[in-house]
Amino acid sequence: MKLKIYLGASCPPLQSLEYKTGDWGTMHAFVDKEKCTGCKICEQYCPDLCIEVKEFEDKKHAVVDYNYCKGCGVCASVCPQGAIKMELKELFKV
Ligand code: SF4
Ligand code: SF4
Repeated sequence: MKLKIYLGASCPPLQSLEYKTGDWGTMHAFVDKEKCTGCKICEQYCPDLCIEVKEFEDKKHAVVDYNYCKGCGVCASVCPQGAIKMELKELFKV
């Protein structure tokens, strides 16, 4: 019997595109674009492939797709610049 193990994810890559996971959890990732250097490390580790470095006029920085960010915090853990903070969603703020 073969056993497949997906590091940092509970399903194969891209499968979650069928399921909008953005309403999972109470937190979401917030990128400080001033601190972000565009190194793309967060892209490589996000289990839902929902953080992506994009080019803008002034600089490039990571952007989160909140339709899919389930708030796992992996990106914030691996960012070498401390540019990602996990924040409570508006819905849960009192
Ligand atoms: S890991 Fe941090 S510095 Fe690198 S692209 Fe992502 S947010 Fe920016
Ligand atoms: S918290 Fe970060 S790693 Fe987790 S799903 Fe959201 S963008 Fe991806």
